[in-house]
Amino acid sequence: MEYKTCSKCREEKEITSFYKRGGKRSDYNHECKSCSSQRNKEAYLKNKDKIKERNIKWKKENKGIVNSHTAKRKATKLNATPAWANEETIKNIYKVAKKRGQHVDHIVPLINSTVCGLHCEDNLQLLDPIDNLTKGNRLYETSHN
Ligand SMILES: [Zn+2]
Repeated sequence: MEYKTCSKCREEKEITSFYKRGGKRSDYNHECKSCSSQRNKEAYLKNKDKIKERNIKWKKENKGIVNSHTAKRKATKLNATPAWANEETIKNIYKVAKKRGQHVDHIVPLINSTVCGLHCEDNLQLLDPIDNLTKGNRLYETSHN
């Protein structure tokens, strides 16, 4: 069995305790596996705030996608997403809406006393914010009375 001394903890360990470096068979890292995973952990903790910041920035710049995710979570909770719904198409609808400053509307509302709509591309339409706010669920409530 081959042994190697870790450059960090100075312990002599079996060669299998070291990660291979590059493609060469005999080339191993100077640090043992536990030291290098410790270093990765420290690097992550050091960068945590930066990663968080980057996520927030991404969300700000990709509100359409975030809106689509939020709607999907809501629809999933209500069991309203059919298996055949096209996620990519739905995502695009939300992206376009965001770009145009419009709202995405479920033509048949997800929750209604008489009918329940589905979260799928056929049941989505783009509305100007004011239309969506005034539409409510009135259409279906009156037509079924
Ligand atoms: Zn070590």
